Amino acid sequence: MTMGDRQPVDRPIVRAEGIRHAYGRTEVLKGIDFQVEAGEVVCMIGPSGSGKSTLLRCVNHLERISSGRLWVDGHLVGYRQKGTRLYELSDKDICRRRADVGMVFQQFNLFPHMTVLENLIEAPCRVRREPKNAVMERAHDLLRQVGLADKHGAYPAQLSGGQQQRVAIARALSMRPKLMLFDEPTSALDPELVGDVLDVMRALARSGMTMIVVTHEIGFARDVADRVMFLDDGRIVETGPADQVISHPQHARTQAFLAAVR
Ligand code: ADP
Ligand code: MG
Repeated sequence: MTMGDRQPVDRPIVRAEGIRHAYGRTEVLKGIDFQVEAGEVVCMIGPSGSGKSTLLRCVNHLERISSGRLWVDGHLVGYRQKGTRLYELSDKDICRRRADVGMVFQQFNLFPHMTVLENLIEAPCRVRREPKNAVMERAHDLLRQVGLADKHGAYPAQLSGGQQQRVAIARALSMRPKLMLFDEPTSALDPELVGDVLDVMRALARSGMTMIVVTHEIGFARDVADRVMFLDDGRIVETGPADQVISHPQHARTQAFLAAVR
């Protein structure tokens, strides 16, 4: 393949170089550089509209970058320099790549007409064509991990928001992803349901999963993140170890944001 879709160096799970994204004429990512190593947990914080969801969506191939270079798990996702043709994956390749990335949204997006167990086994059976027995066994294990072993036969509507979100996490994990993306996973939950979801995410982080988590839960970010990135107006304003960025932010904008969300 031209331009080499493989990254030569020892490879991080995500590597972004100068990526930009625009909706129509409005540029919302204005040159983003970052890297996530295997096993690393990165929390992304920043005001509403700063581009956090868009950045996650680029990593998961739900949006196409307009310039820059982006690798996910060593595969080049998009590449464009001024005046050159965009290097893009085919739809088939995008599907294949996306199967390696789990994503959990603010709204749980479970299949409402399927039981919890059916939600978990659908993608591994259909997309990966794995044997059903093995998939079922793994699904029950995952439900135990998220504390919902007894809910396998329930329908999403019979569960609380917190339980649905834990099912959504288990469903993403059922594909055995190399990377998990979380986009404000607890923002739609009643406060008393947030803790259980964060506990599941904390355990997942400890298990060595590579994670990018967009969250306003600053306490969680401080406890769990290896690194925190503060995004504002389509740019990474500040990034560093969680304790440094949260307890000793250097930039006025980071300071103001943290003061407001605390
Ligand atoms: P965040 O997740 O940090 O709140 P987003 O990535 O959702 O930020 O949005 C960044 C900017 O892009 C915002 O100004 C938002 O209004 C705009 N935007 C997001 N999605 C779309 C879309 N599908 N079409 C047009 N503009 C969008
Ligand atoms: Mg968002």
